[in-house]
Amino acid sequence: MPDVILVTGGTGLVGRGIKWVIENEPEGSRFGKRPGETWIFASSSEADLKDPEQTRKLFQKYKPTHVIHLAALVGGLFKNMKYKLTFLRDNNLINDNVLHTSYETGVKKVISCLSTCVFPDKVTYPLDETKIHLGLPHDSNFGYAHAKRMVDVANHAYKDQFGCNFTSAIPTNVFGPYDNYDLEGAHVIPALVHKCYLAKKNGTPFIVGGTGKPLRQFIYSRDLAKLFIWQLREYDDVEPVILSVGEDEEVSIKDVADAIVKAVDFRGEYSFDTTRADGQFRKPATNKKLLSLIGDFEFTPFQKALDESVQWFLQNYDTARTGVKNST
Ligand code: NAP
Ligand code: GDP
Repeated sequence: MPDVILVTGGTGLVGRGIKWVIENEPEGSRFGKRPGETWIFASSSEADLKDPEQTRKLFQKYKPTHVIHLAALVGGLFKNMKYKLTFLRDNNLINDNVLHTSYETGVKKVISCLSTCVFPDKVTYPLDETKIHLGLPHDSNFGYAHAKRMVDVANHAYKDQFGCNFTSAIPTNVFGPYDNYDLEGAHVIPALVHKCYLAKKNGTPFIVGGTGKPLRQFIYSRDLAKLFIWQLREYDDVEPVILSVGEDEEVSIKDVADAIVKAVDFRGEYSFDTTRADGQFRKPATNKKLLSLIGDFEFTPFQKALDESVQWFLQNYDTARTGVKNST
């Protein structure tokens, strides 16, 4: 039977990354499309996965044999701090509907997407796959983090009770083409790219939230896409895999802002608004398990990936998810 791979959240940042890799890597190669595969990239307009009936209809329509489950309510630090209950509820509903419908319709394998936000706030570093449930997540995003953690719990329960091949991936902070550039709701890179673009265009200062001191690991959406495709084809265990650059590749928010200033060629005034939250100071994750399984993998250098992402934003400003199109 040919494989039908349903990518929920297929129109978002990560979903578009997977679509790009599937369409651009040589056919039949490790990350390229394989003969007999059909890839479906679903959006929320096709089915609101918070709704069980719409979820069932989507699965009836495509009859997926495999699911890469990316659909989620997603946002940066400031949005997570403001809408904790919505993040908890919406993501619980989406995840329960997708996993249960996958079980009921006999999907052979599901990979769900978690995040390094799920890890405990107080834990020894580096984070690894065994530490998810060792303590409470950081207060700033506990709604999102708890909903995502429950996917790992559900994966184990589906395996133990029904023998399902459900697993999960844990990416760090992702960026790339087709990101969400909402000024207030987005993650740090797309939010700052948009802010820097506006500062250059309007001759206003470029203001970065917080102190600039926190550290993050970033992964390019097209690199992450390859890792999801690898996991789909070559990894069959319920335990999650951290999909990340090395733990020695943390970057400060100030370094990120500097790189954006360079990529946008912004020459105006630039400062930090220290009244805004810093969030978690750092959450370095190890990619040891990933590298031990995948072998060699070449990550795109950060500045190159950032330049490509900024160029995409500049060329696609009119259609990008900026959230403010009509007000600026
Ligand atoms: P995104 O760009 O905001 O895309 C979200 C996707 O989910 C979109 O395709 C959206 O559909 C879909 N979606 C949202 N609500 C839905 C609903 N109720 N029913 C059906 N589909 C729905 O997010 P992303 O950054 O690609 O995130 C993908 C996955 O990676 C998520 O699970 C997220 O938690 C995880 N992750 C992201 C990051 C990051 O830095 N971005 C980091 C770690 C983990 P529409 O296009 O129709 O709105
Ligand atoms: P996190 O990695 O889950 O914390 O999520 P973010 O991608 O939102 O990154 C948050 C970090 O970037 C915090 O240290 C913020 O203070 C900092 N930051 C600086 N400016 C911004 C901004 O405009 N938006 C966001 N989301 N974060 C910003």
